[in-house]
Amino acid sequence: MRYISATWRADYVRQAVPVKGCIFCQALKGRDDRATGLLLRGRRNFVMLNRYPYTPGHLMIAPRRHLADFAAAGPAERAELAELLRTALLVLRRAYGPQGFNAGMNLGASAGAGVAGHYHLHVVPRWTGDSNFMPLVGGTRVFIEDLDTTYRKLRPLFHPERRRGSR
Ligand SMILES: [Zn+2]
Repeated sequence: MRYISATWRADYVRQAVPVKGCIFCQALKGRDDRATGLLLRGRRNFVMLNRYPYTPGHLMIAPRRHLADFAAAGPAERAELAELLRTALLVLRRAYGPQGFNAGMNLGASAGAGVAGHYHLHVVPRWTGDSNFMPLVGGTRVFIEDLDTTYRKLRPLFHPERRRGSR
């Protein structure tokens, strides 16, 4: 049995000090969606890849507004979040065929939110045996793919209307 070290987790721990600005607002403002992993811009929310995925396909859904508290979100914001969660589940199922999902929010720094000022819903595909979020080899396949591969796989699935003729 071979274990794969998740070096990006260590990087994440090192970077747990507050960063200047907000990664969500920055990604939304930026023009290079592929570089930031921004998969879909909705009317009130957007979907982007987590830079430090627990498993391949780990993404996040966040409001366009810089808002810390989900309870302060408006009805249309909340409704679209639920719609995008559904879309994300369908897309991830199609791309990776996971056996389950974790979907949830860490609200507040004490609850483990990496970016506490801008709430976001994590969607994490899960497989039996990916124990403690660390995929390990147990005779079955394991894959850790780079973010750009994940992006190129998922982006067209979030934009089915644009699939023909464009990338
Ligand atoms: Zn923000």
